[in-house]
Amino acid sequence: MSKKTYITHHGMTDLLPGEIEQWQALEAAIHETARLYHFQEIRTPVLEQTELIARGVGQLTDIVSKEMFTFNRGEDHYVLRPEGTAPVARAFIQHHLAQRGGTQRLYYIGPFFRAERPQKGRQRQFHQFGAELIGATGAIADVEIISFMAEIYRQIGIVNTTLKLNSVGDPESREAYRKALHGYFKPLTDQLSEISRNRLETNPMRILDSKEEQDQPLISGAPVITDFLSESSRTHFESVRQLLDIMGIPYEVDPFLVRGLDYYTETAFELTSPDLGSQDALGGGGRYDLLIEEVGGPPTPAVGFACGIERLMIACEALGIRLADPSGPDIYFVTRGEEAARWALEKMPELRNNGLVCTMDYSGRSLKAQMKDANRQQARFAVIIGEQELQTNLFTFRDMVNSKEFQISSSEIAKRALSL
Ligand code: AMP
Repeated sequence: MSKKTYITHHGMTDLLPGEIEQWQALEAAIHETARLYHFQEIRTPVLEQTELIARGVGQLTDIVSKEMFTFNRGEDHYVLRPEGTAPVARAFIQHHLAQRGGTQRLYYIGPFFRAERPQKGRQRQFHQFGAELIGATGAIADVEIISFMAEIYRQIGIVNTTLKLNSVGDPESREAYRKALHGYFKPLTDQLSEISRNRLETNPMRILDSKEEQDQPLISGAPVITDFLSESSRTHFESVRQLLDIMGIPYEVDPFLVRGLDYYTETAFELTSPDLGSQDALGGGGRYDLLIEEVGGPPTPAVGFACGIERLMIACEALGIRLADPSGPDIYFVTRGEEAARWALEKMPELRNNGLVCTMDYSGRSLKAQMKDANRQQARFAVIIGEQELQTNLFTFRDMVNSKEFQISSSEIAKRALSL
């Protein structure tokens, strides 16, 4: 009988050594940028209540209507979180973070789950980093969030990006725009794709999100929201644009960039890259002044962004950006006999305390096999230990790069490794 083996679910991948170093370096850059922007990390559970996500993301979205991984246990309805903003809003309310005073500046990194059709840049388990600035209404907050997001890509070296910017206005602006869009698309119903036809009555703004070929000429002639902005929304949008100019952050106004949910207000933005192919969005975000109230909290303005890590990695690969490579140990102990192996095991903590990366053979292999392994692991130095070396306290210290060897005592190993 052949043994049964198992593989990951479709659209879910393992991150292995060789690739993980790139992720760790990215995460370090995110943490460091967050520190400089004075944002603090928040980690929320991977499982949330289904109702929170349904309300926080919106019943009419693709995410909630068809992409959630859910299950029930007894009375409880669980969902694998598909995004990070609703969970952060929930934590903000649950822990009364408003009482800490001032604005809350939170960021996160982690896995998210959507039952989408997997393709390049689209997985069922993917990873995002994102940030939320909660409790501030001003355009300065919007620009700080955009600046934070842009800075992470700049740090990584992904600079040929486009920041698309729009305003979806306040609820009054949006209502006026929705009516205008409905009036425009209604006579064109027969020419719309089926998916857009369905959106016409429920949420015509989402027609603008359509990727269907046949909708494109119709969308390009549609009214634009900027013509329907109220006085205060127009002022907010102008301030955001002015501040971006002052900050030297380039952008393009895209009047069809929408977040078709009622909780989203004012600023909307998206960062795209020509190096990604059809899934060209690196990340996006915007203002969501009505969301926290929608999920049970006090009226609280907020603005945030979320970016996909897999897509950032695709862009890195296309641009030839290597953030980090796997590195070998500083010292590989090549041992002959059990006593020598025990000696190495005891010696390694001291060296590690000095910041040296140490390893050894764990299977009693031949000296030749151990030297081969030290080479394969790209060890910088090998220290060779046998019975005689232990008696004389003189060890062969081999520089693996130039094959030079030295005879040194045990107490000199750290100094010698650190000095070369
Ligand atoms: P969203 O939360 O839908 O605004 O997505 C924000 C970013 O997360 C996108 O721009 C993508 O970079 C990334 N993203 C969203 N869904 C997926 C997915 N299924 N697979 C990989 N990345 C994704």
